[in-house]
Amino acid sequence: MQKTLVMKFGGTSMGDAIAIRQAAAVILEARDNWVRILAVVSAMSGVTDMLIKGAYAASDNQTARYTKLAEKIRQKHFSAISELLESPDEKKCIHAIIEEKVNEFLNLCQAIRVLNELSPKALDAISSLGETMSMPLLAAYLRETGCTAEGVHASKLIRTDAVFQSAYPDIESTRDLCQSRLEPLLEDRILPVITGFVGSTEDGVTTTLGRGGSDFSAAIIGTALNADEVWIWTDVDGVMTSDPRLVPNARTLETVTYREISELAYFGAKVLHPKTIRPVIEQDISLWIKNTFNPQGPATQIIANNDQNKNVVGNIRAVTAIKNQSLITIEGRGMIGVQGIAGRAFSAVARTDTSVSLISQASSEQSICFTLPSSATAVVISSLKSEFQAELGRQDIDHIWAMENVVIVTAVGVGMRHTPGIAGRIFSALGDTGINVIAIAQGSSEVSISMVVAASDVDESIRSIHKLIIK
Ligand code: ADP
Ligand code: ASP
Ligand code: MG
Repeated sequence: MQKTLVMKFGGTSMGDAIAIRQAAAVILEARDNWVRILAVVSAMSGVTDMLIKGAYAASDNQTARYTKLAEKIRQKHFSAISELLESPDEKKCIHAIIEEKVNEFLNLCQAIRVLNELSPKALDAISSLGETMSMPLLAAYLRETGCTAEGVHASKLIRTDAVFQSAYPDIESTRDLCQSRLEPLLEDRILPVITGFVGSTEDGVTTTLGRGGSDFSAAIIGTALNADEVWIWTDVDGVMTSDPRLVPNARTLETVTYREISELAYFGAKVLHPKTIRPVIEQDISLWIKNTFNPQGPATQIIANNDQNKNVVGNIRAVTAIKNQSLITIEGRGMIGVQGIAGRAFSAVARTDTSVSLISQASSEQSICFTLPSSATAVVISSLKSEFQAELGRQDIDHIWAMENVVIVTAVGVGMRHTPGIAGRIFSALGDTGINVIAIAQGSSEVSISMVVAASDVDESIRSIHKLIIK
């Protein structure tokens, strides 16, 4: 028998009573092979989005809108309760928890509306509520199936900094908290069901780890407990050659290296949160991505190295995209040979708290271009213009401008390294489909090549690169 397994169930795996039953079946089955199992859960699908929409509606003084969202959230959980739970005591208890959390949502919205201010801290208080509702529901259902399960709030386990909406854990204190709170349960053969996505600061203020962060929660808890494996249960058959929603003939990759999954996750493949990878690498924990709705079907193991695998040599393995980007260009003949322009440009961007997703510089140094989320365009352009006011005045820099509505399409594969001609094949494929490549960048690890294309070309770009993977 193996020892410790952390299983994370995503939003769709918690989406309704049928999904929760299926997630529970997966947990019960794993009990035959594992001594200690922990479950980490996301909010029911759509709930985090509704909570966030409610918070924005409150800041916009739209009481009717957030009240309606509260009702939808309540109904979604109530109907799952009535389909899942039989025991009147469990039903009553979980009803009361949902009622309490929905009221908390309404009270927070009311405060936001009155103060007319929506801070990142308030957004975390609100967006974390989804997991605090799904967690007791799964725990109660597991108890009804005869499995001793107990819901645990990750705010008591994951200690983070105070960077609201993208908090980072303090590994040492998180380890102490996880061990002191979870080990006694595991010793008693109780299965902890833990809220994903959520943490708290030293002062006990709720934080979240960023959208899609429940994957990261599972990795953090796995690391803290020296788990042997972390399994991410989602709604597709593991990591695939592309997003199957977009490319119906996408295939599961049986193994994906840490570097490949890091690039895929960074460049928009939603299947795994990019921060999940580092903790599991550092502790050599085996990481799998599996399909809750097809548990015996294909799955992906994330592995350290694939260089020996003949199938990957010289091949693109997957293609992904990040949408809603803007391409910023700083251009001017007077920039040639001038030291420090790039450094100053990126400092000016950093001051706006924006992260750059891709950088590409023409070798003549007459221009620098980079992409960033389109929501940050205006603030970044204004920060750059004030940074380079003198250069613009002297016309050393001619233009600082944004091309909006672009996307980054990225081809990933460790076998692409040292393989001549890959970029050529990609550009021919795009050219043959009549797609114009606006900018390119190759990751320094040579595990990826990224192209900036017009947003209207994204689907076609992905499909045409995918044809190089699967004919
Ligand atoms: P969960 O709610 O389980 O965390 P997510 O919606 O965050 O699930 O991630 C799973 C989704 O990721 C899939 O439904 C799929 O549409 C999308 N996806 C994007 N790229 C890929 C890929 N290369 N392989 C598999 N899924 C992908
Ligand atoms: N519920 C959170 C979100 O929707 C976290 C997650 O699902 O991983 O972003
Ligand atoms: Mg996810």
